[in-house]
Amino acid sequence: MGWMDALSAYEGLRVARGVYTLQLDGAGNVQGTARVEGRVVAGRSAVAFALSPGVTVTDVQVDGLGVAPQGMGEGLWSFAAPLSPGAPHRVQVNYAGRLERAFMRDGTDRGWYEMQFMTRWRPVFGLDYPAASRTTLTLPATFTAASSFALVHEDRIGPAVRYVWDTGETPHSDFSVVVGEGLRADGQAGPVSIRALCPQAAPYSPQSVLAAAGGALHAYAAAWGPCTYLRLTLACLPHSACGNCAREGLALFGQLRADPTTDPDAFRLVAHEVSHLWWGLGVHFDEGRGLGYVEALANYCSERLARSRFGLEAFGRHLSAVLLPQAKIAEAAAGVSLRDCHYDTPESGRLRWAKGACAMLLLEARIGCAAVDEALSKLKREFMGRRAEPADVRRTFVEVGGEGVIRCFEDYFDGTVPLPQGTEAYGA
Ligand SMILES: [Zn+2]
Repeated sequence: MGWMDALSAYEGLRVARGVYTLQLDGAGNVQGTARVEGRVVAGRSAVAFALSPGVTVTDVQVDGLGVAPQGMGEGLWSFAAPLSPGAPHRVQVNYAGRLERAFMRDGTDRGWYEMQFMTRWRPVFGLDYPAASRTTLTLPATFTAASSFALVHEDRIGPAVRYVWDTGETPHSDFSVVVGEGLRADGQAGPVSIRALCPQAAPYSPQSVLAAAGGALHAYAAAWGPCTYLRLTLACLPHSACGNCAREGLALFGQLRADPTTDPDAFRLVAHEVSHLWWGLGVHFDEGRGLGYVEALANYCSERLARSRFGLEAFGRHLSAVLLPQAKIAEAAAGVSLRDCHYDTPESGRLRWAKGACAMLLLEARIGCAAVDEALSKLKREFMGRRAEPADVRRTFVEVGGEGVIRCFEDYFDGTVPLPQGTEAYGA
């Protein structure tokens, strides 16, 4: 059982309100308290929650009485207490530790930290029910804080300044905060205000990140209509593990190793994350049921944009030298469909990225770019701000492209039929 499965087995406490405080020093040491009020559901008496790796629970109190916390591995914790079903309870967790692993960046770019307050991965209760919450973050001197949260986005802050994020009337419980020293640039891309934050020694400037992301935003908005986000902050973290796009438009580009305006791989990463403002964040997919679909959409969007930017010939080479061989590796290892793919599926990354892009490109070769855009616009109109299922994507494409696309979905998205080998099948 993976930690995600373990966690979803414990949907015990429905949080009504959360108050979180975090204090971070210049060396990555973090101290915090999570106080939540909620009701017990489903008659469970054990509650699980996730913390950032490297952070340890120092004590747990339920209704003022101490209970023993239990570490379950992989940042997962739980406690058991005599909680009455349906009754209100107050739980306080104190924790301390050091942000490291993927969270702390060292080397020449010192002092970068990323804290994810995501659904199941934050130093508070990991169960995501929209609840009013307040998070207070105290940071050391002169760091730049980039947050994906609704009210405060980015600022140069003074010594030991307290920052407060309050969900108020529109509760969101997922957000990320990035703090560090770097260069930044601000720009305007139509209705979306974008900012870029980059390490000083990076082989690209914040302006080039801004230009690549702005171009992608314009192209996507022209194809499917504007996204619902007003702000996009692009944080290019040194030594981060991967790209990531968080709620309220914070994109993290860890693997940005070259200038995204001239390097196709760097451009694809930016275009991929920006497309998540539509697919994944705007139109939301449950990560347990729609991960393969949402990543297939995002990868297709970035491949298509790279194709129009760097040319058909370069696209054909990339398809035959990278995408198809990578998709074959995933097909051989995974044994599951794109639809059923999870984070812990063998070769999950290659399956979502390479097979996902190829499956969408096959679909595009059958019905054409205009029909793909029509289907995506329809999907966006119907599901923006809501959750969509893989079946909704399939239905929308069938409505636009006709019954002929059903086979494509059955074989390559919902089934495990191997992809055809020739690049001509993909329109290249
Ligand atoms: Zn993605």
